[in-house]
Amino acid sequence: MDYECLRNCYIGERLWKEGRVYTLPVDMEKHPKNFRPVGQAPEPEVPQSVPEPKEKETNPLVCKVCNRECKSDLGLISHNRVHKKQEVSNGSS
Ligand SMILES: [Zn+2]
Repeated sequence: MDYECLRNCYIGERLWKEGRVYTLPVDMEKHPKNFRPVGQAPEPEVPQSVPEPKEKETNPLVCKVCNRECKSDLGLISHNRVHKKQEVSNGSS
C-alpha cells in the first residue's frame, strides 16, 4: 500500500521525506503521524460536539428519598410511607 509521508522522519535509519509517497511494506511500523495511507481520506475529525443535556422535565411528584416518580399526589404520599416505615425499622439498627 502507498503511504504519504506526513513529516520528515527517520525510521530504520532512513530519512522519509515529508510530502513523498512511499510504498511501504505491511509489516513496517507506520505511525499515523508519520504516514498516511494514500487514496484513503484522512480520518474525519470527529466534531467534539457534546450532546446538549436535555433538560429533564421536572416532575414535582418525585420522591425526595429515592427519586421515584409517582403519578399522583396520593401516589407520592403513599409511597413516602414506605420510607417512613423504613426509617422506623432502621432506627433500631
Ligand atoms: Zn421513595
